[in-house]
Amino acid sequence: MTNQIKAAVFDIDGTLALMNKEQGTFSALTGAIEALTACRDRGIAPVAYTNGTFFPPAHYYPLLADAGLVLDEGHILTPAAVAAQALARKGYRRIMVMGGDGTRVPVQDAGIEVIDPTSDAPKVDAVLLGYTRDFGAAELEAVVQAVWDGATPYAGSVAPYFASSKGRMLGISGAIAAALENATDTKVTVFGKPEVAGLQIVSDLTGATPRQMAVIGDDPKLEIRMGRKAGAFCVGVTTGIADTALFNSFPEGERAHTVLPDLTGLMDLPQFGGRST
Ligand SMILES: [Mg+2]
Repeated sequence: MTNQIKAAVFDIDGTLALMNKEQGTFSALTGAIEALTACRDRGIAPVAYTNGTFFPPAHYYPLLADAGLVLDEGHILTPAAVAAQALARKGYRRIMVMGGDGTRVPVQDAGIEVIDPTSDAPKVDAVLLGYTRDFGAAELEAVVQAVWDGATPYAGSVAPYFASSKGRMLGISGAIAAALENATDTKVTVFGKPEVAGLQIVSDLTGATPRQMAVIGDDPKLEIRMGRKAGAFCVGVTTGIADTALFNSFPEGERAHTVLPDLTGLMDLPQFGGRST
């Protein structure tokens, strides 16, 4: 008897949808709308988890809804939203944020005071790094000083670069994290994929344990690695950056349990209560 899935954690870009880079709109990928509907019909909570840190979660609800992808309130996650909720649970009251609205808004929404990185900043519990192009030496010095003064350093993502319509875009928070580690000899804790912190938030949200979750994504190094670490059922889709051969090139314990050409066949899998094997 297969363990029935209770929560399905979908990646957004390349899995549920593709973004039109010019207009900033999304279009649903094949089978995505039907998969979300079928999940709900079978009592499986759908969650969308993007690794992007440019925007707060609120940015995505209407854009995905316009594409026919409707997610319940609280069921769209970003690394910054995961960080904010995890840090609130640690009891942090005041955090220095070096990042844009994509990072600041979730921290504020979690009830934590956001402190700007300035030379006269008050003492903070933690430093959180997110994507921003709006900084200079003074801001860098302020976050380093905060860690020297005892704050714990965190980042949404430390990816070296992101894919964009203009090619590779520097992952600023990863670059700042490297500078911070160099200056303070303190390891920066990361929340985004492939770290498993996001799945803990999904547990809080849905009541599902990681073993009762499916993680569905187009990136074997992000979604699949995260899901396998946590003990979730992992489904790769080839609608994004990886083909079947790339998914299957990973060691057996780290690779997707199954790879699909798109989301059409997802609900046929026995783990989702389907009948195919
Ligand atoms: Mg993706």
